[in-house]
Amino acid sequence: MRNHIALVLSGFLTLGAAACSQQSPLEMAAATVGAAQVTTLQVVGSGTNFSVGQNYTPADPWPAVTVKDYTALINYDTGSMRVELLREMGAVMPRGGGAPFFGEQRQIQVVSGDKAWNMPANPEQPAAPNPGAAPERMLALWATPIGFVKAAMANNATTTASGTGTDVSFTVDGTYKMEGTINEAGEVESVRTWIDHPIVGDMLVETTYSDYKDFGNGMTLPEHVVQTQDGFPSLDLTISAVTANPAVDITVPENVGAFQPPPANVEADELATGVYHLRGGSHHSLAIEMADHIVVVDTPLDQARGEAVLAKAKELIPNKPIRFVVTSHHHWDHLGGIRAAIDEGATIVTHESNRAFLERVATTPHTIRPDRQAASNKAVQIQTVGDDGELTDGSRVIELHRLQGYEHTGDMLVVYLPREGILAEPDAFSPPAQPGGAMAPAAVTNAKALDDNIKRLKLNIRTIAPFHGNRLSDVAELEKASTPAGTR
Ligand SMILES: [Zn+2]
Repeated sequence: MRNHIALVLSGFLTLGAAACSQQSPLEMAAATVGAAQVTTLQVVGSGTNFSVGQNYTPADPWPAVTVKDYTALINYDTGSMRVELLREMGAVMPRGGGAPFFGEQRQIQVVSGDKAWNMPANPEQPAAPNPGAAPERMLALWATPIGFVKAAMANNATTTASGTGTDVSFTVDGTYKMEGTINEAGEVESVRTWIDHPIVGDMLVETTYSDYKDFGNGMTLPEHVVQTQDGFPSLDLTISAVTANPAVDITVPENVGAFQPPPANVEADELATGVYHLRGGSHHSLAIEMADHIVVVDTPLDQARGEAVLAKAKELIPNKPIRFVVTSHHHWDHLGGIRAAIDEGATIVTHESNRAFLERVATTPHTIRPDRQAASNKAVQIQTVGDDGELTDGSRVIELHRLQGYEHTGDMLVVYLPREGILAEPDAFSPPAQPGGAMAPAAVTNAKALDDNIKRLKLNIRTIAPFHGNRLSDVAELEKASTPAGTR
């Protein structure tokens, strides 16, 4: 991509200078946004970003988080961008998921070509490689109005008249399709692109630009930017200032350049005979041996993790098929391996509010990065649960209970093994590294909701097996954690 763009920019500059009365729509857009004279850009604004994949139900929009300050530094010549967000959260989180935080939170997200990383709040700490974010960030750079015009010219875009404007389409890196619409005023009105997502496949990312105004230096650019991902708003910004050609020198940190993602590591902890807590990553799972089959709870993160979890379950419990995969809830970080589970032939057990979503997930196109379900196209088998459900082989009993009064998600099924006294639960209570450690107010609220549900259901729990954190817990600790610090 970097070579590509750099290569064509020289030709493009002459084009811009020679703009005549018969401008093409792309040349007109280039003149509007000032593409010829801009190689780097600083964009400052504020607004809202949203926790994609964390809605309260699959039909709800992504939960909103206030962005007090947004600053993007872009270098179009090197294909690199640094976005800094200062986010703010009150004591009450919006309905839905997203990692609980309180007060201000700074996020620094960087991309350079095919490398992406996050900068930690503490500048002493090394950059955190985030290779999976590279396509999204790289395409966000080329979806900016100036970036879109430059990329369209560099990638031999085709243009077709449509309604009152022009549709522009081209392919970036031979993989990523980009489409945009330029109106009669030469303004880029919208840009559409698609990125690979393990759950929803070729995911549409659409950015809409409006309220164009003169930001100086020959740049007429939008004041209002709205991006959607998978159909719901993911970013909504009001731009307050744009600076042309500041110094933007983004170099890939050594540890990011050298980073190789480690293979998925699944470690097993046998909680009771035939009941395994599968850990070794950020998101845990459960594998349960039944008389003639296996039940797995959660295939999180992505296909690789999902496959590793399924493989570990079969290794621990040999010669039995995985007949059921329970999805605790629909949040994307706990669902990334679901298509591997569908291809495995397992019946997916989920809350009834997720049926339509999972049916879409099973059949959604995965052309950017085909997965095993894209090859097999297996029909999904879904078994839904209302407020309470049960899986049993006549001997072992697995109860499923939907958490009520729980703002993190409407469909959370916790898993209770009455005979073993085990409760498995994601997100509601993730024990801090040290007992009694600090928890965000929203995390306390979630823990309280779990505790209330345990009391309502009169569950007799010896062990809480959380799906986050590095240790087991129990009801005594949960009760302590769900009491606000001031009232203890
Ligand atoms: Zn969640």
